[in-house]
Amino acid sequence: MSHLSITQLNNLERLLDEHELAAQAQIHAEAGRRVDEPFAELTGDVTDLGDEASADVMVDIDNAMMGLQLAELNDIAAARKRIKDQCYGICIDCEAEIEYPRLQAYPTAKRCTSCQNLRERTYASVKHTKF
Ligand SMILES: [Zn+2]
Repeated sequence: MSHLSITQLNNLERLLDEHELAAQAQIHAEAGRRVDEPFAELTGDVTDLGDEASADVMVDIDNAMMGLQLAELNDIAAARKRIKDQCYGICIDCEAEIEYPRLQAYPTAKRCTSCQNLRERTYASVKHTKF
């Protein structure tokens, strides 16, 4: 069960809504500049697609910004699913409770601060290691 209060959860869901609107607005603006692709195909229920389907969508997206926004929409959809499954705010690595301030800053956060730092350090060291 979530360590977050109903009020906190409501606030975070509102933040997810805001992030979603912002991402959709960016995609909309980007799609408006692209005359060769129908807008509906780019944005139609992206958040409802499974991983496989959105991967297909991603292949067609050559614009980095568009890709980032679509990734954001996927993260938001995943966060909403975790809320529904009542595992939102729980670190996927160590199962610790993710601090509310961290969730406020990153409502789609999947890891607690220490696991995220560890992960970033691990990636950073992998990047610098030459085999
Ligand atoms: Zn953790």
